[in-house]
Amino acid sequence: MDRLLCGYRRFRRDRWPERRRQFEALADTGQRPRALVVSCADSRVDPGMIFDADPGELFVVRNVANLVPPCSPDGAYHGTSAALEFGVRILNVPDILVMGHALCGGVRALLDGAPAEAADFIAPWIGLAAPARDRARARTDLADQQLCCEQETIRLSLENLLTFPWIESRRAAGTLRLSGAHFDIRSGELSLLGEDGKFVIVPPV
Ligand SMILES: [Zn+2]
Repeated sequence: MDRLLCGYRRFRRDRWPERRRQFEALADTGQRPRALVVSCADSRVDPGMIFDADPGELFVVRNVANLVPPCSPDGAYHGTSAALEFGVRILNVPDILVMGHALCGGVRALLDGAPAEAADFIAPWIGLAAPARDRARARTDLADQQLCCEQETIRLSLENLLTFPWIESRRAAGTLRLSGAHFDIRSGELSLLGEDGKFVIVPPV
């Protein structure tokens, strides 16, 4: 906790003075984020840093393995779906980006099974992506399965986004764009999912 408070004090000392007006404006006018990003909770993957975004620009939803569940309005506690609903129906974001990443522990658990000491919630959650695992196993050999499965979970989340009627209708009307990306935490490279279904590295300049 001490390190967190040190960081907070640095923020107040170094960043707040230059950011103050920006936050005051956001407090006055509310947020109008440019995009909703579904990202992994992994501490090494920070969408705000990767996209060099200002406060108010990104509406970020983070969970284990950047999964989007299918739409199932059944009264259960659907945190990711609630965030999607708020971002799309209330904030009217024009873009949703599903961003996976290299060395994803959630995807590793999908391939190897959830750790026995943490299986209460991880196992059923990651089980959402079983179709992605099966596709990855069918498509590639063992050495490439982690990356292939990371990419397949991104594709699966994009497919599941379309099961939400208020996402599908906006996409069909051209007011909402869905994209997929994969961030390599080793190289800092971002790959975008193209129309041809392949991931291509974004040139740095
Ligand atoms: Zn991850």
